[in-house]
Amino acid sequence: MINEKIIDSHLHIEAWKNDSGSFIDGFEEHREVSGLASMNICSVPSKYRILTNNIMLGFYKLAHPNTYIHGSVDHIVPPNRDDMPKDMDLVTQYKEIMELGFDGIKMLEGKPTYLKPLGGSLNTPSLDRLFSEMERDGVHIVFHVNDPDEFWDKDRAPSWAFPDWFYGDGTYPSYEEIYSQVDKILNDHPNLKVTFAHFYFRSKEPQKLIELFEKYPEVCVDLTPGTEMYGAFEDARDYYKEFFKKYSERVMVGTDGTFPWPTKGHAWCIDVLYRYLATDEAIMAFNDRILTGINLPKEHKENILYKNFERRVGDKPRAIDKAKFKAYIDKYKHLLENDSLKEIEPLYNKYL
Ligand SMILES: [Zn+2]
Repeated sequence: MINEKIIDSHLHIEAWKNDSGSFIDGFEEHREVSGLASMNICSVPSKYRILTNNIMLGFYKLAHPNTYIHGSVDHIVPPNRDDMPKDMDLVTQYKEIMELGFDGIKMLEGKPTYLKPLGGSLNTPSLDRLFSEMERDGVHIVFHVNDPDEFWDKDRAPSWAFPDWFYGDGTYPSYEEIYSQVDKILNDHPNLKVTFAHFYFRSKEPQKLIELFEKYPEVCVDLTPGTEMYGAFEDARDYYKEFFKKYSERVMVGTDGTFPWPTKGHAWCIDVLYRYLATDEAIMAFNDRILTGINLPKEHKENILYKNFERRVGDKPRAIDKAKFKAYIDKYKHLLENDSLKEIEPLYNKYL
């Protein structure tokens, strides 16, 4: 157990249960083993649809109130069309989840696999309205944009990127195109309180990140692997030591730990991140590479381990409004899968 205050800012739930039990306690062992002060679970559009995932996170927080949650909006119809039912448009969904007690918004819309079925563009009227609201409200967003650039190049893409994460077949927006879409969003909404996941995939071009930091005071990144970034950090260790000092207010730790996978993976990851930031040890890290700790001064280290998260999201998680949570489930249950409804029913009876 690490004897220091840490918030794991980036976790996911992708299943109802694993060998150890229900998702409802899925990160409690991680909280204990890793000695976390708190953690933030983010909605993810994967096997379970977003609405279901949001509901799971709401129940998680009811069971464990010292848990932050970031919910997602569901593109029930793609955002490049404007025929979404009026009472389910993105802004309405956003307001509903914030009012019921979420702490922020998770967006995966910038990941190529997700962006493509949405029509390939983040610059749509409905997303623009959503960004306007979130900017005005000062709501924290964890935003996954892009993926490592080698995923567009068939000669450099790792074998495990095929076929799902290979983007070089001409049907995906290009790596640079996705960044320019986000440049436009930031230009239109310069005070968006956004934390780009996975170091914004800029570890090989930190200057590009610095440009954003200098231009937009609310932009941050997280250190969630993206294992490739740690290779780049090690290759330029002295540079990054200075970088993380200078921009310590713009970086947060997170593991991407995902239930149903066992705790030992998330606990190992937070331990690697902690030792990288807080010690000068040689650490056996990602992809069997040695990572050498940069031993940051206390003030900088604390910013990255928890202070930035608290500053941006709140020093404690918001409470769930049960009546609003009930109304949310009732409103959307006709869109949920039958097997999800079966799982939700006992939770609804127990917690609501
Ligand atoms: Zn993630």
